[in-house]
Amino acid sequence: MTKYKLEYIWLDGYEPVPNLRSKTKIVAFAAEPALEELPVWNFDGSSTRQAEGSSSDCLLQPVALFPDPARRNGMLVMCEVLLPDGSPHPSNTRATIPDDPGTWFGFEQEYFLYRDGVPLGFPREGFPAPQGEYYTGVGYKNVGDIAREIVDTHIDLCLDAEINLEGINAEVAKGQWEFQIFGKGSKRAADEVWIARYLLLRLCERYRVDVNCHPKPLGMEHDWNGSGMHTNFSTEHLRNVGGEEYFEALMTAFDEYKHDHIAVYGPDNHMRLTGLHETQAIDRFNYGVANRGASIRIPHSFVQNGHKGYLEDRRPNSLGDPYQIAGRILQTIETVPTGAAGAAQRVVEEVAA
Ligand code: ADP
Ligand code: MN
Ligand code: MN
Ligand code: MN
Repeated sequence: MTKYKLEYIWLDGYEPVPNLRSKTKIVAFAAEPALEELPVWNFDGSSTRQAEGSSSDCLLQPVALFPDPARRNGMLVMCEVLLPDGSPHPSNTRATIPDDPGTWFGFEQEYFLYRDGVPLGFPREGFPAPQGEYYTGVGYKNVGDIAREIVDTHIDLCLDAEINLEGINAEVAKGQWEFQIFGKGSKRAADEVWIARYLLLRLCERYRVDVNCHPKPLGMEHDWNGSGMHTNFSTEHLRNVGGEEYFEALMTAFDEYKHDHIAVYGPDNHMRLTGLHETQAIDRFNYGVANRGASIRIPHSFVQNGHKGYLEDRRPNSLGDPYQIAGRILQTIETVPTGAAGAAQRVVEEVAA
C-alpha cells in the first residue's frame, strides 16, 4: 500500500467571487486511485461562509482528479460542495450548469502578479514607463527578474498535472500575464481553469508574490489595462456546419441575453468594459471580424471557412467563475435551433411575425 496525499480543493462561499480552499487527506491505496475510489470528505462550512456554526458540516464530493506535480504521491482533487443531505450547496455553481462534451472552451486567463501591494516591477510610489513594450515583451526592463521563472514553472506544473494549458504571454501592463486553457465540455474546461489558478497561487507563495485577478486593479482613472478572461467557444454545429444564417441567429440570441451574460462574467466589469483598452462598453453588444473593441470577436478564419469554427467572447473578466461563464454561453447557444429543423422553425417564426 502507498499513502497518497490527496489535496481536496473547493470553492468557498465568499461573494461576489469565491476563493479556492484546500486541505490534505492521506489515504492508502494499492495503486494510484481513480476518481470513483476517492472518499467523500467534509469541512467546517462556518469558516468559509458556507454554513452556520451550529450546523457547520459541508460535504466534499470529488469530481475531477489530477496528478499533483509538486508532491510525491500527490493528487489534486477538484470537489463540489454538497449539503449534509447530498444536494448541491447554493455556492456550488458547477452542479447546475449545462454541459456538453461537443462544446469546447478556450479561456484566456489574464492576471497581475503583485508584491507589497503593487504590480511586480512597479516602483513603491508612482508608475513605471507607460504601456507599450510590455505585451509579449522580453528583457529585464519589461518583465523584471522573477516573473519569467514563475510563469515558466507554472507551465510545467500545469502540464504535469495533465491540464490542457495551451500557452502563456506577457500582457499589456507591467506585471500582467496570461495563460490559456483549452477543454472539451463546460465542466472539464472550467475545472482545469480552477486547478491552473490553484497551482499558480500555490507556486507564488514561495516568491512572496500574490496573484491579483481584479479586472481593473489600477483603477479606472489611470491609462493601464484591466484583466479579462476572453472565452473562446465552439460547438460541434459551429465547427462542422456553421453558416451565416445560423451565425446571425446565434448573435441575435447573444444580444437578447446580454445582461444575463454580464451578470456572470465577473464583478466590477463596468470598470473594465468601458469601450477603451480593447473592450466594448458593458451595456452594448456587438460583434466584428478581428475587432478587439467588440463584445464578440470573429476570427478571420471563421468567415473564410463559411462561418465555421470558434468565436471569442471578450467580455468575461479575470475574476469570473469559469463554470458560470461556460454554462451561460452554452445556455444561450441552446436557445438557437440548428440544422434543417432550425431553419424551418425560423421560417415559421418569420411568417408568424
Ligand atoms: P488571442 O490572444 O489572439 O485572443 P489566444 O491564442 O490567447 O488568442 O487564445 C485563443 C484561444 O482559443 C485558446 O485558448 C484556444 O484554446 C482557443 N481555441 C482555439 N480553437 C478553439 C475551438 N475550436 N473551440 C474553442 N476554443 C478554441
Ligand atoms: Mn490571448
Ligand atoms: Mn490577453
Ligand atoms: Mn483574446
